[in-house]
Amino acid sequence: MNIPIRHIFTCIMDILIPRRCLVCGCSLLVNEKHICLHCMADLPLTYFWTYRHNAMADRFNALIEQKHPDNSHERYVNAAALFFYSHENGYREILYSLKYHYNIPAGEFFGKMLGKRLSQSETYADVDIVIPVPLHWRRYWSRGYNQAEVIAKAVAKELNAELRTDILKRNRHTSTQTKLDIEGKAANVEGAFIVKTRTLPGSIPERPEDAHHILLVDDMFTTGSTALACFTALRTVFPPSVRISVATLGVVGGT
Ligand SMILES: [Zn+2]
Repeated sequence: MNIPIRHIFTCIMDILIPRRCLVCGCSLLVNEKHICLHCMADLPLTYFWTYRHNAMADRFNALIEQKHPDNSHERYVNAAALFFYSHENGYREILYSLKYHYNIPAGEFFGKMLGKRLSQSETYADVDIVIPVPLHWRRYWSRGYNQAEVIAKAVAKELNAELRTDILKRNRHTSTQTKLDIEGKAANVEGAFIVKTRTLPGSIPERPEDAHHILLVDDMFTTGSTALACFTALRTVFPPSVRISVATLGVVGGT
């Protein structure tokens, strides 16, 4: 019998430090990664990458319309998430383990899953620039990584697109969004992002209009206020001829 050495190592590590399914908490088998096969089979995929007009994109386009009622140049903005999460289903723990518990491998794993689906979608296959929602430097410093960047890196690789962390900047430290209502979240992040100017090294492309399709990536989509604030900042530089789409691992809703 030819058992890969990494499986033997995983078995030994599973005895020493049992790995648990992020969703249901059961012990993982040697071939299971992050969540058990049962929870993987039940992963509430949105399939939003197959429908340009979907609930998440509709919600986001309504926000844009509300914020910029006179903007008739903006085309319908694409938005997609990999799976639904809610207070009731355990899939929220995938997002929380990445965001709060340093579970970068889980972010890479599910980011790759999201990227694969987007790369197979006509709507997203032509993305050439992937931009993660940035953290303020103070939060980045205390957390040690940006969870959106972990996902964006995996997505960019699958889309064969360029990951750019030097374009968008969070210029204001905002309080945590968790306990705010919809209006509070919008006010909290409004104007919190800027695009780095051309005068700085490693700034936006020399000719922004040469960019084709930008994908803004975050870990989760709740009210859409963070994505809207980033979108608004990017639009100050990139003309409407450059498409800007949004992708996240989780979107609140579903079952
Ligand atoms: Zn499970």
